[in-house]
Amino acid sequence: MASARSIKVHGVVQGVGFRPFVYRLARANTLAGWVLNGEEGVEIFVEGADNGLKAFVRELTATAPVAAHITDIEVESSAPVGCNDFTIRESRRKEHLTARISPDLPVCEDCVRELFDPADRRHLYPYINCTNCGPRYSVILALPYDRPNTTMRSWTLDEYCASEYHDPGNRRFHVQPVACRNCGPEYYLQAGDTTIRGSETSIRSAAAMLAQGKILAIKGVGGYHLACDARNASAVQALRNRKYRKEKPFALMAKNLGAARSLIKVSAETEALLTSTARPIVIASAKANLPEVAPDNNELGVMLPYTPLHHLLFAAGAPEVLVMTSANRSSEPIAFDDVDALARLSGIADAFLIGERPIARRVDDSIARAGTFGPTVLRRARGYAPSAVTVFPSKRPILALGADLKNTVTLVVDGQAFVSQHIGDLEHFDSFQALQQTVEDLVSMYEIRWDELLVVHDCHPQYASTAHASALSSFETRSVQHHRAHIASVLAERDEWNRSVVGVCFDGTGFGDDGTIWGGEVFAGSISEGFERVAHLRRAILAGGDAAAHHPVQAAAGFLAQLDELPDVTAAPFHFPERFQSAMELIRKGVRTFTTTSMGRLFDAAAALLGFTRETTFEGQAAMWLEQKARVAPFADAYSFPFVNGELDFRPLLANLAKDRFVGRDASKCARAFQKGVALSVFNAATILCREYDIDTIVLSGGVFQNELLLEDLKSMFGATPFQVWTNHTVPPNDGGISLGQAALASFGQFDDAESSNRKESV
Ligand SMILES: [Zn+2]
Ligand SMILES: [Zn+2]
Repeated sequence: MASARSIKVHGVVQGVGFRPFVYRLARANTLAGWVLNGEEGVEIFVEGADNGLKAFVRELTATAPVAAHITDIEVESSAPVGCNDFTIRESRRKEHLTARISPDLPVCEDCVRELFDPADRRHLYPYINCTNCGPRYSVILALPYDRPNTTMRSWTLDEYCASEYHDPGNRRFHVQPVACRNCGPEYYLQAGDTTIRGSETSIRSAAAMLAQGKILAIKGVGGYHLACDARNASAVQALRNRKYRKEKPFALMAKNLGAARSLIKVSAETEALLTSTARPIVIASAKANLPEVAPDNNELGVMLPYTPLHHLLFAAGAPEVLVMTSANRSSEPIAFDDVDALARLSGIADAFLIGERPIARRVDDSIARAGTFGPTVLRRARGYAPSAVTVFPSKRPILALGADLKNTVTLVVDGQAFVSQHIGDLEHFDSFQALQQTVEDLVSMYEIRWDELLVVHDCHPQYASTAHASALSSFETRSVQHHRAHIASVLAERDEWNRSVVGVCFDGTGFGDDGTIWGGEVFAGSISEGFERVAHLRRAILAGGDAAAHHPVQAAAGFLAQLDELPDVTAAPFHFPERFQSAMELIRKGVRTFTTTSMGRLFDAAAALLGFTRETTFEGQAAMWLEQKARVAPFADAYSFPFVNGELDFRPLLANLAKDRFVGRDASKCARAFQKGVALSVFNAATILCREYDIDTIVLSGGVFQNELLLEDLKSMFGATPFQVWTNHTVPPNDGGISLGQAALASFGQFDDAESSNRKESV
């Protein structure tokens, strides 16, 4: 007897070959009906024999395409309507679009096989892709995800590609970026005035140039890379000089897993990340010695090839380990537009390998590591964004604008929290424009009405994101405090809206409730009830404001000024430069001084005492240097860092460190004792507060918790206790996670501004 089912599938189900999969599944089970991309996901109607329907529903989840991520399926019994066959219907528009946009996918094994098969039509064709792989978010111009709404719209399918595109039994059925050499885009090489046309020739020439030690700008999925032979020290050094990037580590791309194993220690967890569909840059302990790639660092960041082009370059003879760094100068955002790339990178790259397919938006490589508490994303971009990371209980539309450093934005639509790609540091105008574009993109793609939107921003009055929030014509604009947002981000990832926790937030800089610079804060509370600040780092003076973040000795001044006894730090073994005395002078006069509880600056002060007395060239450098130093020492007892009356008192910690260094104790052992002291202090404060507030869960977030050694120490300290410790996994512990936390607190009405501020009349 015939019956029927109406089925709705939610999650990442568009642009991942879901409809052809449904088509084949229905035919295999002799069912009639239809499938279409609705605005809330994929809608299916099937009718036929009961056992066929049962098998269909079962296999729908069990055998779904690799790139699909099903969050929810609704199955309802229906009356049969007498369909004759199964069809794929046109996309239908309705009121809201919450069907998720898929992140970009790495080239799949089937396509790699065809890529190197001389008999295949797409032999050596750099834009090969299929239902299971290829670009998505980086080519989408608008929803629904159909060819005319992608950057492939100017290439018309030839007969061959069209026949695949329209054949439900084919792997490329309804694959929007499908193309072949006969009808699709190509790569070409631009070296000075010379242009080499034809993908095959240009890729071979590019590989040869890389092997000769040249620097190439190579167009990828979400932007340009600058590439060179990682084992050619002079090429890497030339890249550093031309890019004005003195010390920040470069990312590497290894030809394959074997080459990756020669560079880093690849644990099972690291391998899982390396080969995951996001293909992030994975940070792990270095095996290879490449000092020009990562100066003063015992770790390397490595990724595997993820586009057909990467595979072609290696096959054409490119060195098996390449530096693959975002194409920009210093900390500017990555170039993704061809004209812009040629202009900005002309003094850096010897040649440009340019692909004709335009990039719709800038999407950097993601960065992750197999952390002590589990896999952790440190930069969330290609392969992850803009997936929803969680579902809020509240359906209110919210746009959270994040912080100014490592900016991301979060848009909440029908409860689903979509976190954008890493946008960058908003002090760069390009990044600020990228923020504007990303906001426009997400709000228009999901067809959210501005006058319904609650916009949330940081409390910092001078943030560019704060200014942008008030420039938007939203229904309401509110603010959420920086460090509360960090703690909320960990809980939001886990859908823990009501869980009471003790939240320890350590980072560099955030605007506090009292207008001072916070960064060593402990909270008690929950997302739904809000977080109360219950402890903090002892206050110190920060001399000279923002500049102190780049000069560890300047940051150190305000902390060391509080010590009763201090050796002469301008003499051996410290050799603090003149800047230290100038900072001390500002503190004595009370000129250009700020109050801070920043744990990041405390790490800077310790690093200065241990020998890092120069200017930093990237954020967090001194703390990273200290961690690397501490790792070398096998063991050391913790320096005292007492928790008294809600205050973490750094004075004994720094006094002991200074004294030990003065008497010539090994800097690595001192660094180890410092790190251990910080861990023990967090452990003591958190357990005392947990008992006081009857809480059993501790949350750690903020940039300082990117310090793996600190996490390792904490894990072993908490191991024998009944407390559970939660850290970030899906969004970064650094400021890249702030927007999710802001949105979470806002959805429960937990704001940190004056009541009902900035509420605009609905129009
Ligand atoms: Zn494929
Ligand atoms: Zn074609």
